[in-house]
Amino acid sequence: MNKHHERTFIMIKSDAVMKGLIGEIIKRFENRDLKIIALEMDFPTPEFMDGHYPKDPVWVTRLGEKLLTGFKKHNIDSVKEFGTEDPVKLGPMVREWLINYFTMAPVVKMVIEGSHAVDAGRKIIGATMPNMADLGTIRGDFSSDSSVIANTAHRCVYNLVHASETVAEAEHEINYWFGEGKKLFSYKRFGLDV
Ligand code: ADP
Repeated sequence: MNKHHERTFIMIKSDAVMKGLIGEIIKRFENRDLKIIALEMDFPTPEFMDGHYPKDPVWVTRLGEKLLTGFKKHNIDSVKEFGTEDPVKLGPMVREWLINYFTMAPVVKMVIEGSHAVDAGRKIIGATMPNMADLGTIRGDFSSDSSVIANTAHRCVYNLVHASETVAEAEHEINYWFGEGKKLFSYKRFGLDV
């Protein structure tokens, strides 16, 4: 095992489950030499999702900034739509939509491991906004949703899958979703470990 061997947390979100994309998404990670070491369907409560997404004001404000970027590009007035163009005020609203996203259908949670698993996970899923995500990524191949479409419908962006952004975040999310006693499995994969 090399020193860049990592674990990351992946969640197939409710919209992907509703689109019948579970198998397709799992395949993308296995194809990239990543090993699935935990896999389970789950239906998180809004309270649980609230604990999953950061409450850090910088992170929440970033959600508001992404809304404004989409609105500016399409000349939509955020003040008319939401009564403000302050990302600090818009961020919590987007975060609320995000929590509601997961009441539509269950999710599939996974832990995957392999070389540079965290960066690989982000690369495989693609950019946050599916309309901007490269073709060949999960979000780019299976969705055309955008912040402007979602935000004018007063909902969050449906982008199919979540992947941890850093090694520290991955460790935190794995513990959060699978528990400290972690039901993680160890095995060798033909062509990879054997
Ligand atoms: P990522 O999932 O690519 O790490 P973020 O951490 O910035 O992206 O955002 C978390 C999730 O919040 C996104 O996956 C998306 O579902 C949703 N989201 C982010 N920005 C917006 C926005 N402006 N409007 C609606 N939903 C958003």
